[in-house]
Amino acid sequence: MYAEADYVMLSALQHYQYCPRQCALIHIEQIWAENLHTAEGRILHERADSREKGAKGCVRTVRTLPIRSARLGLSGQADVVEFHEDGKVFPVEYKRGRPKANRCDEVQLCAQALCLEEMLGVAIMEGALFYGRNKRRHAVFFDGQLRHLAEETVSQVHELFRTGVTPKAEYAKKCDQCSLMSACLPKSCTDARSVRKYLAGMLRGIDEKDAQHPVCDDSGRLSE
Ligand code: SF4
Repeated sequence: MYAEADYVMLSALQHYQYCPRQCALIHIEQIWAENLHTAEGRILHERADSREKGAKGCVRTVRTLPIRSARLGLSGQADVVEFHEDGKVFPVEYKRGRPKANRCDEVQLCAQALCLEEMLGVAIMEGALFYGRNKRRHAVFFDGQLRHLAEETVSQVHELFRTGVTPKAEYAKKCDQCSLMSACLPKSCTDARSVRKYLAGMLRGIDEKDAQHPVCDDSGRLSE
């Protein structure tokens, strides 16, 4: 069981799955920048975040429901949770764009289900991701593999926050979509080889300047 002060935010799981450095920049260094993708996501969430409650047929819908898990040390809110007449609890998370190649959205949704299971004492076997691009729900089944991945990600985020060390940048294609690109500068400090190249370039620059501007020797004469 975690102390409340040590809870991590549900959104950090998705950030960590996308890029551990992005997670650290946002949640440890408190850096945030908006780009087209984050703006689209924010607008899409406005309806889900309207704190509405409603009922349609045999389904009661609650939006922006605060959720938490003391076992995992996790808190946040669920965009939409449906309570069905037969007892089924069904979380729905709104996302911009289209379904992704990685599992970061599924991990976040599964972590919501783990919170709801602990809070309500029910088993939740499935939920859905609603994508703004195709305006469709995609079913997500919370099988053992996804649950394990979600819990593992929670542990990794706790460890990241415990150490407080921001991982170094590693440039990848996903960086071009990242709103923190200009704060992160992944192309400038991707790895040691890049640093060596940078230093070599700096030294070459000094050599060239020296050649153009000869320096004085110990006796005060200009070197040839
Ligand atoms: S620019 Fe790339 S390395 Fe930097 S935080 Fe974003 S995804 Fe991570």
